[in-house]
Amino acid sequence: MDLGIEGKVALVCAASKGLGYASALCLAREGAKIAICSRTKEAIEAAAQRIREETGAEVLPLVADVTKPEDLDRVVQETTTHFGTVHILVPNSGGPPAGTFETLDDSKWEIALDSTLRSTIHLVRAVLPNMKAQGWGRIIVITSTSAKQPIAGLLLSNTIRAGVIGLLKTLSQEFAEYGITVNNVAPGSFATDRITHLLNIRANNAGISVEEAKSQMESRIPLRRLGSPEELGSMVAYLSSESASYITGQTLVVDGGQTLGL
Ligand code: NAP
Repeated sequence: MDLGIEGKVALVCAASKGLGYASALCLAREGAKIAICSRTKEAIEAAAQRIREETGAEVLPLVADVTKPEDLDRVVQETTTHFGTVHILVPNSGGPPAGTFETLDDSKWEIALDSTLRSTIHLVRAVLPNMKAQGWGRIIVITSTSAKQPIAGLLLSNTIRAGVIGLLKTLSQEFAEYGITVNNVAPGSFATDRITHLLNIRANNAGISVEEAKSQMESRIPLRRLGSPEELGSMVAYLSSESASYITGQTLVVDGGQTLGL
């Protein structure tokens, strides 16, 4: 299927590895021009080089911390200076800290709010003038199934992702008249460093090996395996496409069948 995004400009955040990287890679395969950011210069430059080598796409690597509004402004500005505009925005971040109510102090709440909700608000505000002016835009946020079905030990994600989804649903109503669609992809369990980190915590808490914790996790997934990051990235690319022009305000769950509920 031709997704119709050849030459479009995509900005994908937190994309040196994992789900952000896979999303950027899938967009690049469809012919989009790509700006990616993360905090580590070597990591983001190496990621850009891998995407260029695999796809031949033009890729602009930028160093930025999504919890810092000034970094987000600079990323949008440098992307716009380099490519002329932003057509596709993919807000993403590292995962919020794990923990239960009694183990999470205010500083952890601040980190989670900054990296998920506030960064999304700030990025949308920064790209909106260009998207409005061109009468075309795609905003696809990487969230989590925690917003549909709370996950034990991930109180911050369970709480704040729901707020992000409320924001996006509202924006989909407000931005429809500008030709901008707003959706989010809700990953279940994907083979990334984030999941390795969470599996280590679970194994430690339960006094079992990491392999055992992984087997337990996979046994709760109907497809009986973790997802590969590109299985999420391909959904991001689809939602960015012309073919998805009538889809807005939706949470697209990509989780191997794990989330219960109709
Ligand atoms: P990951 O493999 O750990 O990758 C995280 C990426 O984010 C890296 O590129 C990292 O690069 C970058 N990053 C982290 N903090 C950042 C910051 N403050 N500013 C800019 N970049 C930052 O994580 P992932 O699995 O891809 O997860 C991505 C998002 O999806 C997270 O919010 C996670 O909670 C959510 N999610 C993941 C899963 C899953 O199964 N993997 C499931 C549900 C939800 P640098 O270190 O260079 O900054």
